Amino acid sequence: MTAIHLGMPAFPAFPAFPAFPAAAGKAVADPVLRANLRRATHTIRDKRARAVAELADWAELRAAGKAVKDHTLRHLDRYLLELEASVTAAGGTVHWAADAEEANRIVTELVLATGEREVVKVKSMATQEIGLNEALEAAGIAAYETDLAELIVQLGHDRPSHILVPAIHLGRAEIREVFAEEMGGWGRPAPEGLGDDPRELAEAARLHLREKFLRAKVAVSGANFMVAETGTMVVFESEGNGRMCLTLPETLISVVGIEKVIPTFRDLEIFLQTLPRSSTAERMNPYTTMWTGLGPSKGAEGDGPTAFHLVLLDNGRTDTLADEVGRQALRCIRCSACLNVCPVYERAGGHAYGSVYPGPIGAILSPQLRGTGSEIDASLPYASTLCGACYEVCPVAIDIPEVLVHLRERVAQGGPVTREGIRVRIRPAHGHAAERAAMRAARLLLNHDDWPVALRAGERLLARARRLRPRRLPGPGRAWTDSRELPELPAQPFRDWWAARDREGRA
Ligand code: SF4
Repeated sequence: MTAIHLGMPAFPAFPAFPAFPAAAGKAVADPVLRANLRRATHTIRDKRARAVAELADWAELRAAGKAVKDHTLRHLDRYLLELEASVTAAGGTVHWAADAEEANRIVTELVLATGEREVVKVKSMATQEIGLNEALEAAGIAAYETDLAELIVQLGHDRPSHILVPAIHLGRAEIREVFAEEMGGWGRPAPEGLGDDPRELAEAARLHLREKFLRAKVAVSGANFMVAETGTMVVFESEGNGRMCLTLPETLISVVGIEKVIPTFRDLEIFLQTLPRSSTAERMNPYTTMWTGLGPSKGAEGDGPTAFHLVLLDNGRTDTLADEVGRQALRCIRCSACLNVCPVYERAGGHAYGSVYPGPIGAILSPQLRGTGSEIDASLPYASTLCGACYEVCPVAIDIPEVLVHLRERVAQGGPVTREGIRVRIRPAHGHAAERAAMRAARLLLNHDDWPVALRAGERLLARARRLRPRRLPGPGRAWTDSRELPELPAQPFRDWWAARDREGRA
């Protein structure tokens, strides 16, 4: 076995991405984007609620999914070694990647060794997380996305904005435009006179992709689950394009986060029920592809790769695992239910989160995998109203609000975190000095014996001058009033009101 070394997060925030409030502000001002998001998220969330209500034992399934994931994370070292042994026994080769750079290097070398210069890809968030397409391009290898929504995003030189529907921010007319203008530059062009009917668009994509499937010798995939006891990889998808990727090419390279392992094949029965209902509101997943090691080279008839490589990606996951509160984010099965119910996501859209993981799960996962050092990562734990809807719908019961509050504390106060397996103390994030100073001043004020007299005098003065109250605070307090109105000042301080009430009671 190659030793795994604890990974330093190396997946970048989208280049020059601003903090969440600035990016969200821009999105909120776009009525077309808001309408697209509202329509899509409301449709999916309503369908999901109906699909979940059909199961009398949903609560038990949710608890079972949580328990399996928690147990696996607690014994992750053991299950990863078991997985490595199973994959190797089935004819595959396991590679361990501590960070994005190492994973990209491994995949690039594997592709170059085949002599090929293009690969087809089935939807994989892990490869987006590490920027694999860009790394392959730098090495002269073209990577073609084959999931329909991913294809749209790639052709449009855009970024995904949703876990399940990466092109959720685009309408039909915009997709038609992307196809008509860009398809020809990547392969088979869109048919003349292409309209924006969904069936026409799907057919154009099918013809474009077929060419790629029939030519490709190498595929890169992710996996929803990896079964330790058998070494089986599992991909859930809706279109069948993934299955073409997983069965036609000769070499298959799967890049998967280490948290995707589950102990036994039987554990899959839980997620086969909860994942489709939570994500696409379907009772059963349209295409569930499973593969164990090699295909025909083992002497068996049928499809499948003759070379299989599994790249196990850390990239900040073991550090996240070290955090007792934050580690629950690693239970995520990427169903996207939390995005579809989130009032903040619904208005801000996925791009505002500056990461491949948008929405509530992105707000707790990205700042843990990448750290809270950048402006965007320090702002993400605040990208929530803490309404709790994300927790309610999560099929593995991740208490997202709890982790958000935990991360806000880290951003505001700093504290101990694990980086590359070493416990270090980080400083508060930039911009929180004024908030801390104000809290210290308030503590001093309220704890001091002589201050209440001065405090009361100040309160009365403020009450009298309440008509002069500004709508926004100046200086460091400005950020607080950017998105809130200053509350009305009462005509009478609370203490005076209470004393008067007491007096009236006695009279
Ligand atoms: S956090 Fe829960 S609801 Fe959100 S994507 Fe992950 S599993 Fe689904």
